Amino acid sequence: MYVGRKHTAIRSAEVERTFRCKGCGYASPVRVLGIGEGTGNSPYFLDGDGARRRADDEAASRAHADADVVLAIVPCPECGERDPEAARAFKVRGLLATLGLLAVGCVIAVVFAAIMSRARLGMGLVFGVGTGVLSAAAGIYVDRAKRSATWDGAILRVTFLKDGDRGQDGARP
Ligand SMILES: [Zn+2]
Repeated sequence: MYVGRKHTAIRSAEVERTFRCKGCGYASPVRVLGIGEGTGNSPYFLDGDGARRRADDEAASRAHADADVVLAIVPCPECGERDPEAARAFKVRGLLATLGLLAVGCVIAVVFAAIMSRARLGMGLVFGVGTGVLSAAAGIYVDRAKRSATWDGAILRVTFLKDGDRGQDGARP
């Protein structure tokens, strides 16, 4: 059993980049908003400040990585197309994450079945498979919801700075 505390942090990062559409050639400086989540453990409740800092650092670096993902898949404001390679890579990563969560579910099923089977084999199988399926389903649901929010919301997190009337902030002085 783990004794201690798990700190979580959510950080956002605004990065300046250049958007370039491979389809129509439209290019613009952009400001991209990335969001990241991080965790840090303080075993036996020791080093709480360190755990908070680790959570913060992880969240900040994930926020920067997230901004790069958002920029890669944002649809072009001129022609509406997404970079086909980046879009494919994004979907492949989603598929891999799903397969990974399924694998974790299988491990949980086997471990629980093994433990419970000591009492009764049938109960062990039912309980183990049930727990594995539920944990995989919950993990996959959350992961897919996050990914589809990034996919659909990318356009809201990129501000195109070239044409003031196109950016979400409206005209700039
Ligand atoms: Zn374009």
